[in-house]
Amino acid sequence: MLHLSLIIVENMKFNTKAIHGGQENTDPAYGSVMPPIYQTSTYKQSTPGGHKGFEYSRSGNPTRAALEKAVASIENGSFGLAFGSGLAAIDAVMKMFKPGDEIISTNDLYGGSYRLFTKIFQNLGIKFHFVGMNDAANIEDFINEKTRLVWVETPTNPTMKIIDIEEVSKIAKKHDLLLAVDNTFATPYLQQPLELGADIVMHSATKYLGGHSDVVMGCLVVKEEELAKKLRFIQNASGAVCGPMDSFLVLRGIKTLHIRMQRHCENGAAVAGFLKDHPKVDKVYWPGFEDHPNHEIAKVQMKDFGGMISFTTKEGSLESAVKIVENLKIFTLAESLGGVESLAGHPASMTHASIPKEERAKTGIVDSLIRLSVGIEDEEDLINDLKQALK
Ligand SMILES: *Cc1c(COP(=O)(O)O)cnc(C)c1O
Repeated sequence: MLHLSLIIVENMKFNTKAIHGGQENTDPAYGSVMPPIYQTSTYKQSTPGGHKGFEYSRSGNPTRAALEKAVASIENGSFGLAFGSGLAAIDAVMKMFKPGDEIISTNDLYGGSYRLFTKIFQNLGIKFHFVGMNDAANIEDFINEKTRLVWVETPTNPTMKIIDIEEVSKIAKKHDLLLAVDNTFATPYLQQPLELGADIVMHSATKYLGGHSDVVMGCLVVKEEELAKKLRFIQNASGAVCGPMDSFLVLRGIKTLHIRMQRHCENGAAVAGFLKDHPKVDKVYWPGFEDHPNHEIAKVQMKDFGGMISFTTKEGSLESAVKIVENLKIFTLAESLGGVESLAGHPASMTHASIPKEERAKTGIVDSLIRLSVGIEDEEDLINDLKQALK
């Protein structure tokens, strides 16, 4: 039996859902407030098939089920599915398709997603079109009778373009295509793609949902039961599930998502403003600026503008960027994002190294680009750190 972790529509606001969503009756045995970590691979049966809802932990585990319900709740979905990583979650989505099928994806994409699409699924006969979706209508040119899915990432990584999910969803619906949105950067605190017409929401829970840089995990959320069943079948058949301890950690992370995001946004606005005025800084990519090309969409689609910022130096060289990230003391030079601590990265040599240089340049990932994941430390300390590193 495969658990579908159905969420009943809940009449709660986001900040309450982050803490209580999908979490009624998590421990019928003792009433523990947090669901227990069911560190078990299997479950005793009284008679063959006579179990209490769980029979083997690849198919289902109570701690994972509690997390899956929580994620479904905060995304306003009906069904949640958790995987061993964000890429494992994307992998499960792609396994719904067959050789000959075509997928239209944002061209400005997380490097690992691009690698999975072009180096694994393209070899298995699925065709990908990478399209700039700044104008949603651009996708129309690539739709034919073989098209099955539109894959959107917004804000895009690392140049923070904003794609109008509602506009893309109208086109997808008109042509009977599925729409999936990678909501890792925004989180459901800032943007809820299912409400805007998406069919699938994907998360690298490694980032903001977990929020403490201590776990690698991925999630999917959907509304439709048929879609949930297909994905649940793949989750069990392919087996890229997460363990109960990791499920517990992400569940704990979600309980503070709203207050962490609020501070990420405040600190993000302060850091973006500081960088914009700095004489050594050239471009600053942050959707909160009024002159950001997609600011108007961001204002409608997102509750706030987040703590992810990229910038380039006027000097322009790879060396100038490397020197800055090496000089930072509070910002840690590391891959990843979305944790309580501030991180800095150099996309051309780190997260996006798997994308060829010519492809990178097309989407603005030049050698001097630095990406910041602004954490929830003191705002003044973060600005002072950037000040001394830019000297
Ligand atoms: C990190 C990330 C992923 C991949 O997630 P993993 O948990 O690292 O497998 C996918 N999309 C985005 C936007 C990411 O930042």
